[in-house]
Parts: sequence; C-alpha cells; structure tokens
Amino acid sequence: MVLGTSKQIVSARATDKQIQAVSQDGGIVTGLLSFALDEKIIEGAVVAGPGEELWKPKPMVAMSADEIIAAAGTKYTFSPNVMMLKKAVRQYGIEKLGTVAIPCQTMGIRKMQSYPFGVRFLADKLKLLVGIYCMENFPFASLETFINEKLGLSTDLVEKMDIGKGKLWIYTQDETFSLPLKETHGYEQAGCNICKDYVAELADVSTGSVGSPDGWSTVITRTDDGDTIFQQAVDAGIFEIKDIDSVKPGLPLLEKLAKSKADKGAKESERRRELGLPVPW
Ligand SMILES: Cc1cc2nc3c(=O)[nH]c(=O)nc-3n(C[C@H](O)[C@H](O)[C@H](O)COP(=O)(O)OP(=O)(O)OC[C@H]3O[C@@H](n4cnc5c(N)ncnc54)[C@H](O)[C@@H]3O)c2cc1C
Ligand code: SF4
Repeated sequence: MVLGTSKQIVSARATDKQIQAVSQDGGIVTGLLSFALDEKIIEGAVVAGPGEELWKPKPMVAMSADEIIAAAGTKYTFSPNVMMLKKAVRQYGIEKLGTVAIPCQTMGIRKMQSYPFGVRFLADKLKLLVGIYCMENFPFASLETFINEKLGLSTDLVEKMDIGKGKLWIYTQDETFSLPLKETHGYEQAGCNICKDYVAELADVSTGSVGSPDGWSTVITRTDDGDTIFQQAVDAGIFEIKDIDSVKPGLPLLEKLAKSKADKGAKESERRRELGLPVPW
C-alpha cells in the first residue's frame, strides 16, 4: 500500500483550545506527546524547539507539557532531533522517550534501533515515535530568500508558515503572503529529490494535514503501541476524530501525493545512478 502499514486512518484534531491555537494543523503531535507525558508512557520528548533565530529550530528535550506546547508548529528547515536522542537518555536520564521526526529521520531512528552500534543504551528506550509527513525541506538560507528577498518581509514578522494548495504561505499578524511552489523549487535540500517516503512509514503514528480539512490532520496509526496510545488519547477526549472517508479531500489526495513522491524519487535516483553518482537505494 502506498501509505505503508496501518492500523487505523482517521481525520482528527486536538480538543484543547490552547493546543489548537499554537499547532500547525490538528495539534496531533503536541496533543499526543503531552498525553503520553501525562500518562507516564514517556518521561520526556525530543521536539524541534525554538532556536536563537526565529524559524531556525533547535532540538530540545521537553520534560513538561508547556515545553512541548512551546515547540508546536512546523519549521520548514532542519531540526536535527535525532542527535538529541542520545543526550535525552544520557544527560537527562530519560528511560521512556518520545520524539517527533520527519520521514528521513524516522528511517534513521529505526535503523539505529535495528543496528544499535554505539547506541545500545538508547534503542529500547524510545516508546513513541510520531512521524510527520514531508514533501521537501529547505536550508534556512532558502527560507530567508523566500521571506526577505522574494516577499520583502522581515523574518521577525512571520507568525506561521505553511505549504498547501500549491503555495508556500507566510502569515504575519495582519497579512497573508504566498509564493507559488514553482518559485521555491530548486531551493530544497538536494537529498529530498531522491526521497521516497512522504508519510513517515516507519513511525508509530504518522500525521500531516493532507487529506483532512483545514485545522484537522490525517492520522495513521501503524504499530500496536502507536495505535494503543492514540486510541487511549481519543478515549480520554484529547482528540476528536472523524471517519477519513467522510472528509474531503480524503485519502485519494494523500495516496496520490505519496505515490508521486515515490515515483519522482525513484526517477531521480535512476538518473543519478546513470551519471555514476552514489544513491542510497
Ligand atoms: C519540512 C516539513 C515538510 C512538511 N511537509 C508536509 C506535507 O507536504 N504535507 C503534510 O500534510 N504535512 C507536511 N508536514 C507536516 C505538517 O506541517 C505538520 O508538522 C504536521 O501536520 C503536524 O501538525 P500538528 O498540528 O499535529 O503538529 P503540532 O502540534 O503543531 O507539532 C508539530 C511538531 O513538529 C515538530 N517540528 C516542527 N518542525 C520540525 C522539523 N523541521 N523537523 C522535525 N520536527 C519538527 C515540532 O517540534 C512539534 O513537536 C511537513 C513538516 C515539515 C517539518
Ligand atoms: S523530503 Fe525526505 S529527505 Fe527531504 S526532509 Fe523530507 S523526509 Fe527528509
């Protein structure tokens, strides 16, 4: 299946108004990590926290719901969360760890758990891996080009960024700006062009906006643990859910984008292979 293994696929959003206000989409990541922390399923979570520069995230170990909430929202540039996992266990002494990761990071984490060379102490401590969908990611300098040069805005004014409906959207307090994605093409990380995983297939629970209405998220539970934790959160009223077949645009769009990313990645890999360049698959 083009979306990977799944236990259940639903459209969902957090019921907490504070989480709704700060989250990128349905607040699934923030809601689920906070719930897992409250229920002592995890003792802390590695998230993409605020860095010294606005919109340049820095991985952080969140030990409270407030810290998880402070890291809500999508930053469209790298946050090397995987690096921080080791520190979370070694320096913070966390025995039960949660984290959020884009698909490539999810793959790295699973590989690390399967072949825990040098990280044996970490592999079995990861109790909740929440994956977020990802079509592409940008170096921070590319974001500056979009915001400062193409839109003529100061980065400090930006309150939210989003990608959807063929555009990069930039929100300030009182205005909304957009750039067609054809203007952002070529600025993405080169590795993204051979990436085939759109929906974080190896996560416990994956989520993204595509498929669901604005303010809601499409949630795919994949592992037994992920499905149990998500279901417990639903039963506790942390999330409201809708049947994915009852919402628009629904799964057909998600499947279409996942397939087109996989096909594009395979084609570019083949092109690079023919040129004699190294490709990982
Ligand atoms: C580079 C990138 C590209 C994306 N592309 C798509 C897409 O094409 N389609 C789609 O449906 N969704 C995409 N997403 C996911 C989407 O933007 C939301 O992050 C996702 O829907 C979760 O929303 P939420 O409201 O549940 O999360 P929130 O509750 O807002 O929490 C978001 C969590 O993600 C973490 N986070 C933020 N930025 C990063 C980052 N750069 N790296 C790792 N963790 C981060 C934060 O720490 C926070 O814990 C992308 C995300 C990223 C980072
Ligand atoms: S497109 Fe793939 S390689 Fe690029 S950031 Fe997203 S998951 Fe990672």
